[in-house]
Amino acid sequence: MSVDTAEHGSHAHDYYDDDSVVSLTGRGGTAPTTALRFGPRSPDEVCAAVRGSGARGAIARGLGRSCGDAAQNAGGSVLDMTGLDRIRALDANAGVVVCEAGVSLRRLMEVLLPLGWYPPVAPGSARTTVGGAIAADVHGGNHPAAGSFTRHVSSLELLTADGERRTALPGTRLFDATAGGLGLTGVILSATLRLRRVGTSLMRVDTERAADLDDLLGRLTEPGAAGAGAGTGAGTGTGTGASAGASAAAAGAPAAGAEHAAPYTVAWIDLMARGTALGRSVLLRGEHAPLSALPARARRRPLTHRPPWSPADAPAPVPPAGPVGRAAAALFNEVWYRTAPRARTGELRHLPAFGRAPGGTVRRSGIYGRDGFVRYQFAVGYGQEEALRRIVERVAHRGCPVFPAELTRFGAGGPGWLSFPTPGWTLAMELPVAGRSGLAPFLDELDEEVAAAGGRVCLAQDSRLRPEALAAMYPRLAEFRALRAELDPRAVFTSDLSRRLSL
Ligand SMILES: Cc1cc2nc3c(=O)[nH]c(=O)nc-3n(C[C@H](O)[C@H](O)[C@H](O)COP(=O)(O)OP(=O)(O)OC[C@H]3O[C@@H](n4cnc5c(N)ncnc54)[C@H](O)[C@@H]3O)c2cc1C
Repeated sequence: MSVDTAEHGSHAHDYYDDDSVVSLTGRGGTAPTTALRFGPRSPDEVCAAVRGSGARGAIARGLGRSCGDAAQNAGGSVLDMTGLDRIRALDANAGVVVCEAGVSLRRLMEVLLPLGWYPPVAPGSARTTVGGAIAADVHGGNHPAAGSFTRHVSSLELLTADGERRTALPGTRLFDATAGGLGLTGVILSATLRLRRVGTSLMRVDTERAADLDDLLGRLTEPGAAGAGAGTGAGTGTGTGASAGASAAAAGAPAAGAEHAAPYTVAWIDLMARGTALGRSVLLRGEHAPLSALPARARRRPLTHRPPWSPADAPAPVPPAGPVGRAAAALFNEVWYRTAPRARTGELRHLPAFGRAPGGTVRRSGIYGRDGFVRYQFAVGYGQEEALRRIVERVAHRGCPVFPAELTRFGAGGPGWLSFPTPGWTLAMELPVAGRSGLAPFLDELDEEVAAAGGRVCLAQDSRLRPEALAAMYPRLAEFRALRAELDPRAVFTSDLSRRLSL
């Protein structure tokens, strides 16, 4: 089956008829740089743009949802890939799709859900392209069972610096460098993805409140907790101490078929709460709702993408309009926490809504002010819960106006040399830049804490990491650099991030 899914009509603002000089930022809105933007609509046009790029090179860009500078290239070329957005083939029996790299996950969901399929890994924003999802090796709340995005890619087509179109298969160096490789091995033109079978377009979600960080980590690691044992090796401990860490150290590959149990877990932490409330959280556990969970009327059309009869997305307090100060952010967190159910089971939600930040879209429309925000996301291994606690404490005591931060668990890492997920805990927070002098040294200190715990920060979100910290965080960095030197000796593929970190 072939589906023409060109999105040009519906998202006209994403397309550019003329190559133009533009100022670009990541989703965080920080550190704008100017580049020549190309809007190729075919692989040949991508090739021409890459060949024609000058001394400052070129980098691919998807929907610009990464928060840092990974898809920027000051003074060089940026290839807006959203013009290559066709689904080339779909095997609706086997659940395999071949699509161009610029198609968004949202578009895939719209096409796939009515057929009973879903992307195997969905990040918090479905406005992410397939190319961006591979280049950042994105993760979702089902990481312990499903791994990250590239685990489900069975092949990809890459345009390399010599102008060749190569097929990269899992198990090869080219694939492993490209998975999470931030566009630096070449431009991903298309990919073949294995999909997840779903019976309905809804999630069945349980919500709990955790009074503090210990309570939260205990709930997340208690035996039988969704994701606690699915491929992570964790789950026998009940607290933040060594037992959870020791058992998790044996993290292995997810069990075959574990994806189908599909537990999704995400906790939202109030990072402004201190004292006995430090780390108080709202924990969501979800699974794909089976047909039997739907009300009788809904069972007639269980796979409708946006069913009119299903509940609205999770109700949440709306953050105030405009830039937010400390008091308003603290009030938002308080109201959000107190109005969350203490314990509620079986709530039906739209699939893409699971894992969305409290406050949703409103949250991202100007509340961080004109200077934007830094998304600080790090991972530390099981057994490093004290480092996690110290970071939560430091942020709480700093007193930034910060909205609920996202804590999830990672299972086994994938083969990507620069992939972020590694077994353990990951915490992502958004810190406003405005009025916060001293944010950079503060984050440098957090980097030191993370590195000392054997952890890493997420490069796809980063806009300020210092290069010295990198090698300890990404042990396969040298291999990545060596492959790049081999493949792309003139460093045609270059970004602000790659220049800053000498990737
Ligand atoms: C609200 C929100 C929630 C999010 N939640 C999550 C989450 O839960 N998990 C997660 O992992 N991430 C999450 N993210 C981050 C986001 O999903 C990723 O950073 C993703 O890479 C963005 O995709 P994009 O298409 O916008 O790519 P861009 O941001 O434009 O680019 C990201 C990287 O991909 C490269 N790239 C893009 N297209 C190509 C291509 N065709 N070929 C080669 N390289 C390419 C770019 O060069 C760049 O290095 C979230 C972001 C937002 C805004």
